[in-house]
Amino acid sequence: MNVILLGPPGAGKGTQAQLIVKNHNYFQLSTGDLLRAEIKKKTKIGEEIENLISKGNFVSDEIVEDLIKSTIENLKFRDRIIFDGYPRNVIQAKKLDEIVRHFSQKIDLIIFLNVPRDIVKKRIMGRMTCEKCNVTLNEYFNVEEIELHPCGKEFLKKRKDDKEEILMHRYDTYMKETKPVLDFYANHDKFNELDGAMKMSEISNKINEILNV
Ligand SMILES: [Zn+2]
Repeated sequence: MNVILLGPPGAGKGTQAQLIVKNHNYFQLSTGDLLRAEIKKKTKIGEEIENLISKGNFVSDEIVEDLIKSTIENLKFRDRIIFDGYPRNVIQAKKLDEIVRHFSQKIDLIIFLNVPRDIVKKRIMGRMTCEKCNVTLNEYFNVEEIELHPCGKEFLKKRKDDKEEILMHRYDTYMKETKPVLDFYANHDKFNELDGAMKMSEISNKINEILNV
């Protein structure tokens, strides 16, 4: 199956994508990775990409689409791709439909990890790191673990993280910009919305159930 994984920053999308790769032997397609891999291979397109990025320019949709095509075309990954962070808009979603159809495949499944804003905020703001053993816990979600932490809970400190605002801004931007993509896929018969506020392991179990059907 080819799967599109959607979800705002803070929904745990990256973790779930990696688990799918590990448990189901999938290929995780992220456009950033494709671009980096192409640069590393020192191909002609790779050099062009490097040149564009070094000048602070965007890589064109055509280049990205070509890289996606060559991945979909690769028999090694046939019907085993997770699209992570792509498509970002409806134009890309339509294009992707065209590309998979061209290679006699389809998008079999769409998984949207939805997580409310206040949960994301707590996940970021509640983070505490132990000065002794470096473990990270969350004051909202790991109340018991914090009480029982072997080093002593006084070593668990919150760090003032200036990324808070940036992350919340990224969350808001994602939800706003991705809404049309969600609407585009909402009528797909295999559109699954999962509650991203659940524990990572619970989400993973749900995804396994869906993938094993
Ligand atoms: Zn500790």
